[in-house]
Amino acid sequence: MKLDVLVFASHPDDAELGCGGTIAALTDQGKKVGIIDLTKGEMGTRGNAETRAKEVDKASKILNLSYRKMLDLGDSILENSRENQLKIIEQVRLTRPHICLVGAPFDRHPDHPKGTNLTLDALFYSGLKKIETIEENGEKQEPHRPAHILHYMQDRPIDFDFVFDISDHWKTKKEAILAFNTQFNVSSNERESETYISSKNYFKQLESRARYLGHLSGFTYGEAFKYYLPPAPLKNFNIFFETSPKR
Ligand SMILES: [Zn+2]
Repeated sequence: MKLDVLVFASHPDDAELGCGGTIAALTDQGKKVGIIDLTKGEMGTRGNAETRAKEVDKASKILNLSYRKMLDLGDSILENSRENQLKIIEQVRLTRPHICLVGAPFDRHPDHPKGTNLTLDALFYSGLKKIETIEENGEKQEPHRPAHILHYMQDRPIDFDFVFDISDHWKTKKEAILAFNTQFNVSSNERESETYISSKNYFKQLESRARYLGHLSGFTYGEAFKYYLPPAPLKNFNIFFETSPKR
């Protein structure tokens, strides 16, 4: 298996929230995209691991993913240990992505930067030959390190380098997020308590941010990314000729 883009998320739904529009655009453009959820999100206030697994399946279909794997590294106890790095390295060597999208370098939820740091270390070590991993069929895996890594923005604003045009894919992003129907845009439900993300206002904020980011680059909706280990390379000015943001 060879993926074009592999996305890492600390919790199921983090990828949809942070870069679901970009994923939908890339799969529409024929790219093979996968998501690795580092945990099952079992500590979330609403829903449980079982309902979230079903929601993950639904969201994956909406985004037209080629691959999705839920690791079980422990929601709220995500450690940057060699044991956890190895589980990620096995996935990277199996899927051999050219580009990886990772979470924000800092954020409101402590699992987000923890997941990001764990992933970044694993992505580097995945290129080391002397760290040996074995495929499920017993074969030795070849080292692999992605050529590009980008951070996607999560809850807190980060100092970003790019805005990706998701104007044609905002609807799909919204659908993929709403696949997690125990988590988002929930009208008050007596059985389960309201959370930071479950209210209708949180969802309105998401749309406002996508519109604001789009506005900055001349799109209707956008998602923000920061290039890890700059500078980002350029081979032509196509993107500058194709867009005309107001300056
Ligand atoms: Zn999260």
